[in-house]
Amino acid sequence: MASTYRTRFAPSPTGKMHPGHARTALVTWLQARKHAGQIVMRIEDIDRPRVLSGSADAICRDHEWLGLDWDEGPVFQSSHDEAYERALRRLEAAGMVYPCTCSRKDIAAIASAPHGDDGLRYPGTCRSGVTQPGKPPALRFVFKEPTPGFEDALCGTYPEGWTGGDFVLRRADGIWAYQLAVVVDDAEAGITEVIRGEDLLSSTPRQIALYRALGYPVPRFAHVGLVVDGDGARLASRHRATSIASLRESGRSPEDVIGELACSLGLTATTAPIRAEELLPSFELVHISRSSVTWNPKG
Ligand code: GLU
Repeated sequence: MASTYRTRFAPSPTGKMHPGHARTALVTWLQARKHAGQIVMRIEDIDRPRVLSGSADAICRDHEWLGLDWDEGPVFQSSHDEAYERALRRLEAAGMVYPCTCSRKDIAAIASAPHGDDGLRYPGTCRSGVTQPGKPPALRFVFKEPTPGFEDALCGTYPEGWTGGDFVLRRADGIWAYQLAVVVDDAEAGITEVIRGEDLLSSTPRQIALYRALGYPVPRFAHVGLVVDGDGARLASRHRATSIASLRESGRSPEDVIGELACSLGLTATTAPIRAEELLPSFELVHISRSSVTWNPKG
């Protein structure tokens, strides 16, 4: 019987592919191949002003160079407007969406607003009507709290709790929010397990709420520790951080890079060069190291 395991690579084409992305992509690839499953390459180009021309192609080439192939795609979020629109209409029909004219500054000015896990907590000011009629509104999801907890395959139990309050589904400038786009795309692609960086762990309760509100089955989640620089900053967020392209240009082989990544994941005892396939026979998702690692390649 064919495997029903499906996962995805979901790079944002806003810059170069970094070791942190490659490390998560390696775990995704190993887990999919281990299950004889499929990988969809989905380019997350929803935030059009941040998209860098040529980046999607370069990121796909970097995956190929590392030997991390995929089965479907690339598919582009920028061509999925209709699917997002349909999902939004269903949520609206269920009374779970309202327009909101508050800016970040307005929210920050509400002194009593407790802070959410990723900054400001929206206190629901516009739930009973927009405060600034005539201003183009964002659309927010009515997020019932406490928010759902879940079991992460790598991080363990993520408890129910409180996050940033009602969150945005479509920005005032018309750009779809990541939370809505990722849920609609993962659900419509039949993704059974989402593997991604730990920076998105706290987004997951919001996404689970959307899966439930839209009547989609909730996939499993596995959040992989981040790669950080010597100062503890997430590598991918650093403008001048090492990229896979720069490692290639400096003469490193794909096996060198996979060797470093595999060792950082606790899959091998040394950083000796290795191909991704060679890691497959002994690969078990639960055995990978859960902590963040500092990127400090030899030589
Ligand atoms: N596009 C996101 C990133 O590149 C990943 C989103 C996801 O995997 O849900 O970090």
